[in-house]
Amino acid sequence: MKRLLVAFGLAICTFLSIVWFQVRIANASLPATQVHPLPPTLERWQDPSASGDYFSEIKPSKIGYLIWSEFPIAVYVQRPGMPVWASASARRFQQWVDAVLPAIQEWNPYLPMVVVDRPEKADIAIWRSRPPLQVTPAGPYARAALVSYEIYQKRSSKRPGGILSHKYTMFISPDLSWPYIQAAARHELGHALGIWGHSRVETDALYFSQVRNPPAISPRDINTLKRIYQQPTQLGWPIASGSR
Ligand SMILES: [Zn+2]
Repeated sequence: MKRLLVAFGLAICTFLSIVWFQVRIANASLPATQVHPLPPTLERWQDPSASGDYFSEIKPSKIGYLIWSEFPIAVYVQRPGMPVWASASARRFQQWVDAVLPAIQEWNPYLPMVVVDRPEKADIAIWRSRPPLQVTPAGPYARAALVSYEIYQKRSSKRPGGILSHKYTMFISPDLSWPYIQAAARHELGHALGIWGHSRVETDALYFSQVRNPPAISPRDINTLKRIYQQPTQLGWPIASGSR
């Protein structure tokens, strides 16, 4: 059985940039690029305010748009290693968990997610950890949150070659205060659900910079998400069996 790690990406949510690290596409028998049916949760979504979107800011990866086609999406959230009554650090850890979980619930009406108890089962794993320092010309810069993905060959009982799939690892710093933990989780989950770009409007959850009063998910965020899920991708389609 050959592993198939074809690509890897990293969103850095400071100021303008999403930086892409693309590793070689290792296999010639990747699925063709196709459009999945629109998830019913997004099909139902209508924006009465017609507030537009920022789809033009979204960049597809080399394998197309990074969208999910199997629901619910499994999300793991790291938990304290000891009971909350045992120590102050466990209580702080639990406060972090309690700030992250609502962000999952906020996106849930648009794309169904389920919280799982083990990271191995997760499509998106969220860790309470400081992201690595970012080196800039001005010196090292502490990031609040970071999300990265990898592409892999998911086993399938129906498809001998498996399904081209993706999974995410997310770090959200323990140093943030409560509203910012939730805002960071909301923002990074937006990336993990497929919004690989940033809004230039301060009232969108995917605004490129941290703001004093973090915005909720906006109609523009969902309008953008809905357009993304109508785009083609190689993800979620079977890999030809017999590929070497
Ligand atoms: Zn971002």
